[in-house]
Amino acid sequence: MMLEPLKQFICDTCGSTIEKPEDGWVEWLCYYDEQKSKLINKSFRICHHETRCMKLANHRHVSDNHLNNILEDNSMVIQLYGMLDPGPFISPKHYKGPEVEDIREVVEFLRRLTLPYYEEAKQYWHDADADEYFSGSNELSSYLPYTLKNIIERYGN
Ligand SMILES: [Zn+2]
Repeated sequence: MMLEPLKQFICDTCGSTIEKPEDGWVEWLCYYDEQKSKLINKSFRICHHETRCMKLANHRHVSDNHLNNILEDNSMVIQLYGMLDPGPFISPKHYKGPEVEDIREVVEFLRRLTLPYYEEAKQYWHDADADEYFSGSNELSSYLPYTLKNIIERYGN
């Protein structure tokens, strides 16, 4: 298998390939946390735009969009940046910190949407790690498109 980078994804529900952006769906939860008095976003997923794969569709806090829409105008990436930090122009008195439950989850989701070959290579991460493929590399070199493509070629079927 060789996914077309940043166009084809692996469904978080059924594990098969989302062949084209028009077949895909992005869903997550967004709710107002009373204690923190801010919005919280979490549980980001990419799946087929089919009832059997859409897991959050009936959740009362669901936010969602077509995969092709978000890829076309980069809107999900822009939203994710905003959730992590609204930027330097917001008044400090309105700033309540990141509007996410888990920063690592959001950055991981950003990698899927923005790093060529990451979506496919991440499947083989454990194999590559067990093989000491990453020894001597750092958090930059591990995620370079060249490295990610190499992981696929080496550990993919
Ligand atoms: Zn699916």
